Amino acid sequence: MADYGVDVLGLSVGADLPYFTGYEAMPLERLTMLVVPRDADATLVVPKLEAPRVVEHPEVFSILPWSETENPVEIVAKLAGSANNIAIGNQTWAMFLVQLIRQMPGTRFSEAGEITTALRSIKDPAEIEALRAAGAAVDRIATELQAGRIPLVGRTEADVSADLSRRIIAEGHDRVNFAIVASGPNAASPHHHAGPRVIQPDEVVLCDFGGTMFPEPGSPGYCSDITRCVYTGEIPAEFCELYDVLFEAQASSVAAATVGTSCQDVDRAGRQVIADAGYGDFFIHRTGHGIGVEEHEDPYIVEGNETALVPGHAFSVEPGIYVPDRWGARLEDILVAAAPGPDAMNTVDHHLHTVEA
Ligand code: ZN
Ligand code: ZN
Repeated sequence: MADYGVDVLGLSVGADLPYFTGYEAMPLERLTMLVVPRDADATLVVPKLEAPRVVEHPEVFSILPWSETENPVEIVAKLAGSANNIAIGNQTWAMFLVQLIRQMPGTRFSEAGEITTALRSIKDPAEIEALRAAGAAVDRIATELQAGRIPLVGRTEADVSADLSRRIIAEGHDRVNFAIVASGPNAASPHHHAGPRVIQPDEVVLCDFGGTMFPEPGSPGYCSDITRCVYTGEIPAEFCELYDVLFEAQASSVAAATVGTSCQDVDRAGRQVIADAGYGDFFIHRTGHGIGVEEHEDPYIVEGNETALVPGHAFSVEPGIYVPDRWGARLEDILVAAAPGPDAMNTVDHHLHTVEA
């Protein structure tokens, strides 16, 4: 905070609050805000009816519950005192920020993200183990998928998505974040919403799924995220060729993800393989995103991001090739940068498996 000239940090809904306190605020019209003055103790301003959910960490913050007839914005302003610069959590509801600006006319407001990102993007050993546990859980589901033990043909994408979601919980997550199931031509749409399409024989089925796992109550949860594709029949030579390029591209980006390498160079390594094979126009997104308490956070593995990887950076490597109206594929693992080389949170097989043939 001193480095950024910030006097007070105000964290509300979003991932910063659970990261620092273990408490996840409900996205409500009732304000929850952790007020962190630079030189004084932190206070969690929380609706009285939500206070019983807070796991107390008195060594970190005190709790100030407000009742239904009080104005929490006034309470926050009072705690902030004569702060010149308040950094507000990036996902705070606009209405609270607008009310705070009105309440504190002389104060400069900035984004807390510039402070919290630097802390959150580098994982400590306990966080890495939490990511590994979540990764192992989705790996077990991907193994079932590749073995053909999750029925596909004849079911709708939505049904398979619900099946994956149940398995995400059964494998130890507390929350499902997404379960993309994209079959046949739908696999050409990277974030396809699993829908009523019935999965057919002889087509690709792309599954991209993940959830949040809480190591223990009162500590933040960590996310999983994996993509594997399977083929419901004999794989046509043309798709084999596409997948081989994707496989090589993903491996190239993974191999490049060493400590000291810039995020954009990790992106370039795989992208070059895809471009060289003539599929460059079909790789339409960045290579990856950071992951932790949030599914998508810093560092982003994208052209233009010159951030050099340091031990503890956790991120996805997930190139894709999408041929509109025809088919597509993506291959995704979560990695943690480490001195000996990238530490994979997902270790399930990377090949394209035939199922139900
Ligand atoms: Zn994913
Ligand atoms: Zn991802």
